[in-house]
Amino acid sequence: MTLRFFIFLLLLHATYGCSKGPGGRFDPAAQAVAAPAPAGAGPFTGDATAAANTIDGRLIHDTVAEIAGDAYQGRTPGTEGDLRARAWLAAELVKVGFAPGAADGTWEQPFDLIGIQSTVPDTWKMSAGGKTVEFRNNADFIAASGVQAELAAIRNADIVFVGFGIVAPEFQWDDYKGMDLRGKVLLMLNNDPDWDPALFEGERRLYYGRWTYKYEEAARRGAVAAIIIHTTPSAGYPWQVVQSSFSGEQFELPAGDEPRVQVTAWVTEEAAGRLAQLAGRNLAGLLAAAREREFKPVALGVHTSLALNTAIRSTRSANVVGVLRGSDPVLADEVVVYSAHHDHLGVGEPNPDGDPDDRIYNGAVDNASGCGMVLSVARAFAALPAPPKRSIMVAFVGAEEQGLIGSEFFGRHPPVPAARLAANLNLDSGNILGATRDITLLGKGKSSLDAVADQVARFQGRETRPDQFPDKGYFYRSDQFNFAKAGVPALGIEGGTDVIGREPGWGRAQLDAFTERHYHQPSDELNDDWNFAGMIQDARFAFWMGLLIANAPDMPVWNPGDEFEAVRLKPGE
Ligand SMILES: [Zn+2]
Repeated sequence: MTLRFFIFLLLLHATYGCSKGPGGRFDPAAQAVAAPAPAGAGPFTGDATAAANTIDGRLIHDTVAEIAGDAYQGRTPGTEGDLRARAWLAAELVKVGFAPGAADGTWEQPFDLIGIQSTVPDTWKMSAGGKTVEFRNNADFIAASGVQAELAAIRNADIVFVGFGIVAPEFQWDDYKGMDLRGKVLLMLNNDPDWDPALFEGERRLYYGRWTYKYEEAARRGAVAAIIIHTTPSAGYPWQVVQSSFSGEQFELPAGDEPRVQVTAWVTEEAAGRLAQLAGRNLAGLLAAAREREFKPVALGVHTSLALNTAIRSTRSANVVGVLRGSDPVLADEVVVYSAHHDHLGVGEPNPDGDPDDRIYNGAVDNASGCGMVLSVARAFAALPAPPKRSIMVAFVGAEEQGLIGSEFFGRHPPVPAARLAANLNLDSGNILGATRDITLLGKGKSSLDAVADQVARFQGRETRPDQFPDKGYFYRSDQFNFAKAGVPALGIEGGTDVIGREPGWGRAQLDAFTERHYHQPSDELNDDWNFAGMIQDARFAFWMGLLIANAPDMPVWNPGDEFEAVRLKPGE
């Protein structure tokens, strides 16, 4: 799958235009439930309103019908479906008047992906004082290689309980207390302290509460392995999700010189209880100790070994990047970035509760809809008589489902220096239920983007709402997170749940039902029940936000003390 094939696809599409997919009959006028008319002209000119009105749902529909069609085979990174989707999106950016935005002047920012498939033994033994406890793979524990090598091994290492495994100077919290834990296996709790609003912002999960942080911190301590104790409340999802997400092939960017543990693992709460018993302790006592600021790591006197043989393979995908150069001679060097991931889960097992013959994970809502919304926003900017002062960039990032990999690569290698990225607005999974009175913003409460968002919401006769599930840490689970990690003020724009014309709670119930039945299932497909009015509203919201940011005298900033402010303020970035 060479560049030449990519260009051939580009030309093919430019010549013959997009084909009609399932549910081809689309008439936005018939679909749209009237969203409240904006209150007066508000902060926008007639031209801006006219440009916003080009966002009519048609391009969103056509994008979903195209790249979520079976022909794209669920768009797994490195496959023909992936390449076709990238070509199609780049060709659409050409059509709407954008220019190639990658640093080398092309449309693509390619990145390598390393596939890691570990073979895990059926059992894992823990020993102490001549006694052993045996954990069963999948039922009691999940383990994976933490290294990109054919063998990952723990050799007769001691297990140490480290509480939450967090070091957070801003909260005067340090679970490690300077203890030397090199070569140890660290057993830890998930999430971050959530019982006091003044401590780790209470219920809201911070990055410290994410499993990725736990493994990263354990590696920085020189540990040989890290085991997270799973409970549904502290993870925000049941053990089945751990089983399905962490077994099977995992993908990463090629390893750099960052520290790594040999093995990353999870155990059930029940298994952790047996481990504590083997150590002559009880889990409840360990949990209670972990809640104290004075907590010190507890050597359990238990040791263990584990060897994982691992198949390593390399594949390649790319971010598709386009840009519309700003009109101001100085501010045009600063850029507002819209992002949406173009990949999905490919071809796999049919849903046991669904169509036994359907193996294609079309990813229509997740995230062909977001790609269509971002394309519509791009077209609206190109429809303005003149571009805004700052430049507008579109990044269709890849391999999101594999762990936010494309946006991680973008954040590490931005086409323009991160200090000149004014803001990121990420769109992942559009609202297919209809127009709403509210809009959900992942990252609300973290930066000056809130004021811009509230201004636009008022103009739309809506209200902004923070993450409806703050304990789940959704801000860290989609691509805006990697922009934030690079210091760029970022928001995840999600549909509202207060659907117009429906009784209270209906929207939320529909969302829960979708998550239950269609999220990450082959049945996430375009169908005639989709109502595009919500996506039209939200894409216009995103457009208007970007327009205000692109024309503002100053760039947005993080709130003082926010976890990402320090990165932004680092000199010389
Ligand atoms: Zn997604």
